[in-house]
Amino acid sequence: APLLRLAGVTKSFPDGTDAVAGVDLVVRPGELVAVVGPSGCGKSTLLHLVAGLARPSGGTLTRATDRVGYVFQDPTLLPWRTVRRNVELFGELADLPRAERRRRAERVLAAVGLTEFADHRPGQLSGGMRMRAALARALLVEPELFLFDEPFAALDEITRQDMGEELLRLFDQRGFGAIFVTHSVAEAVYLASRVLVMSARPGRVLREIEVAVAHPRR
Ligand code: ADP
Ligand code: ADP
Repeated sequence: APLLRLAGVTKSFPDGTDAVAGVDLVVRPGELVAVVGPSGCGKSTLLHLVAGLARPSGGTLTRATDRVGYVFQDPTLLPWRTVRRNVELFGELADLPRAERRRRAERVLAAVGLTEFADHRPGQLSGGMRMRAALARALLVEPELFLFDEPFAALDEITRQDMGEELLRLFDQRGFGAIFVTHSVAEAVYLASRVLVMSARPGRVLREIEVAVAHPRR
């Protein structure tokens, strides 16, 4: 069964903008779908709807899981807390018992290669490492559906490629479904097996492209 199904989903704002206009989308477990398009085409609004942060004005949106991970371009870590505490705090929000929070935090920090930096504060980390911390934090709830809103856009080219590889590795290991929003066509095609191309006229999907995977990573 799909993790997520959108049928004719629309989001209209009071000023008359249709930020999302009649979008159909299905995401199954183990699928990484990229959404690509220029600034203002409705990519963030689409993710807000999927995450339940906004309600559609029309159409139907069915999400089969509440375990949703969300990663933004700005990792917004609390600067006065260690990386470990930043990660554990997410478990408090999810009402995980303390021992379980601790156990999972160690595991997800290891999964993104941050064990050695767990006692650092965010300001002592590079941009790439802060992004790893944001990934670890999102992994804490063991998401079945992962939403990425231009997560690597602020990173330099080399770090962005490292993070792309890191993401694909986690994706292969854990088999979650994901929507990856980006304005880079190259990044979309590099990471995803399916790409939705959105129009500069906001909210419309122009094309849906299947990407042939020549060498499965698995
Ligand atoms: P993207 O993430 O692709 O840059 P957004 O989803 O942020 O695009 O925005 C899509 C369109 O909706 C844009 O034209 C934007 O100006 C408009 N928009 C976004 N949020 C609001 C809002 N709260 N009220 C009115 N218009 C909005
Ligand atoms: P442009 O900005 O011209 O669209 P990019 O800078 O996005 O191009 O990408 C440059 C090259 O890096 C691409 O050929 C692509 O194969 C690769 N690439 C892009 N994004 C990623 C990523 N996140 N991880 C790994 N490789 C990537």
